[in-house]
Amino acid sequence: MNSETSVPLPLTILVIEDHPDQRDLLAIVLQREGYKVVTAANGLEALEKLETENIQIALSDIMMPKMDGFELIKRIRSNPALKSIYLILITARIQEGDRVRGLDLGADDYITKPFSFSELLARVRVGSRVVQYQQHLEYQTLVDSLTGLYNRRAFERKVHEEFERSKRYHSPLSLLILDIDNFKSINDTYGHHGGDAALVKISEIFREKTRQSDFPARYGGEEFVLILPETDEENALLVAGKIHDAIRSCAFGTSTRSFTLTVSVGVSSSSARHYSDWREMLNDADRALYLAKNTGKDRIEIWDAEKKTSQIQPSVHP
Ligand code: GH3
Ligand code: MG
Ligand code: MG
Ligand code: MG
Repeated sequence: MNSETSVPLPLTILVIEDHPDQRDLLAIVLQREGYKVVTAANGLEALEKLETENIQIALSDIMMPKMDGFELIKRIRSNPALKSIYLILITARIQEGDRVRGLDLGADDYITKPFSFSELLARVRVGSRVVQYQQHLEYQTLVDSLTGLYNRRAFERKVHEEFERSKRYHSPLSLLILDIDNFKSINDTYGHHGGDAALVKISEIFREKTRQSDFPARYGGEEFVLILPETDEENALLVAGKIHDAIRSCAFGTSTRSFTLTVSVGVSSSSARHYSDWREMLNDADRALYLAKNTGKDRIEIWDAEKKTSQIQPSVHP
């Protein structure tokens, strides 16, 4: 999932310092080390930059006009979107009270003026390690360990984002839910390992048949979901068809003991119906999936709320 899950390199550091010369000098030193640097002259400006830029580390002076470093820490730590920013305070050597207050308010580290650049860079490297470790942990919570696809948690986060984007830009958004047919019997016949291998293979097909901007995920068990941004119902059905066919014509298992699989697919799209919530949209895809299951499996369906039935002909397979 682009910005939230991948580790952005180089890291971006926000330098917050009211003194222009010191600010420029810090920026130059950090840039020379390969960091991307954004600057701000006070806390207010810093908050603006934090909202608009993808920043991982903030290096902040305390005494500044408009909004000082303490107020800035409070604002950063109370904002869920900024909470994980690694914050280093720049303090004067004599002000022990300020350092304690800053750390208690949520700063991660401090450096006392006057400091050497090598110490500053060492502290920034500590911050980089912490940030990257945090991002790694965050990533682990979003990826399914068997298939390497994003998991349900990642899906819910992404679908929310894409739903809002689609509303804002009036662009279509479609969802697809896929459930393997009679998977229980695959496990029963080929063992749990055979079942797992089939799940992995299906996830590969899922990836191959989708675009970079699509978002395939394992919803749970033998159910997969796909977010299709900028895609209307007609095109979502084409994608569903490609995936359905690819799985249908794939040989699973081993060369000596292979088997085939079919899947049922439910599709919903904002181009077909107005949705005020992504959950409604997912619900319709789910209803469509159940319709596909109840009308014989191995097919793709959409849900028509008015007719309470499918709008497309059941697919006929030899
Ligand atoms: P239907 O066509 O109605 O979907 O039938 P089904 O057998 O696919 O559905 P059901 O919900 O009855 O069973 C799903 C099966 O998926 C049961 C469970 O053992 C299996 N399953 C779920 N997660 C995993 C997994 O991670 N690995 C394996 N091997 N099997 C799994
Ligand atoms: Mg100052
Ligand atoms: Mg299922
Ligand atoms: Mg199933």
